[in-house]
Amino acid sequence: MSLLVVRVLAKAFGGVQAVKDVSFHLEAGEMLALIGPNGAGKSTCFNMLNGQLAADKGSVLFDGRELIGQRPRDIWRLGVGRTFQITATFASMTVRENVQMALLSHHGELFSFWRRASHRHGAEADRLLDRVGMLHQADRACGVLAYGDLKRLELAVALANGPRLLLMDEPTAGMAPKERVALMELVAGIAKEEQVSVLFTEHDMDVVFAHSDRLMVLNRGEIIATGSADDIRSNDLVKEVYLGG
Ligand code: ADP
Ligand code: MG
Repeated sequence: MSLLVVRVLAKAFGGVQAVKDVSFHLEAGEMLALIGPNGAGKSTCFNMLNGQLAADKGSVLFDGRELIGQRPRDIWRLGVGRTFQITATFASMTVRENVQMALLSHHGELFSFWRRASHRHGAEADRLLDRVGMLHQADRACGVLAYGDLKRLELAVALANGPRLLLMDEPTAGMAPKERVALMELVAGIAKEEQVSVLFTEHDMDVVFAHSDRLMVLNRGEIIATGSADDIRSNDLVKEVYLGG
């Protein structure tokens, strides 16, 4: 069975049907891009998947368990990570302490943080920081990090929870093109190596085509196409509503 199975998910805001009977599935280790024009309903989908927003109807099965109706923190505990929408870091702590804090939280040991921050899970924190290319900055306060480095740190914080699925709504927003490519390369590498599935949105189509296994196109709350990069590039309806030409 698929890791994630979404069925007829829907959400209206007043008279606006933001998400209209969306159904899709996501496999283990798969990078799935959700693309579409502004206002298509992408963020609304993400917010229902991570429990921030109540769905009007539908079902989201994650590893066979229903996520709809569960609290965000319980969804997080089941192994659904999200990044970048909320700044999940503490400015006055060092980079390493932020990851240690996330590891303590994951292991249910948060109360020991204040006493034993300097050594608990230090080696694992360093492994994660190395994985995201941030080990050389481990002792810096995270409040002084450059924007792109903060995003790498947030990725390490998300990975500390041992997620099997990462939800990334515009992870590269606000980044320079080069940084964008580097971040998504990193995410794609982690997805493959650690068998983490990723559902992400991204406006830069070069990045999307390079780093997704499959794409879904959302328009006015409905999925109008699903397939490989080639399928999507050659789809007439997608060209009309999103890609242009
Ligand atoms: P996307 O992320 O694809 O740009 P959104 O999911 O943010 O799209 O928005 C989909 C539609 O729902 C838009 O018409 C938007 O104005 C509307 N919408 C989103 N969030 C809210 C909200 N909290 N209250 C009212 N309308 C909203
Ligand atoms: Mg959005």
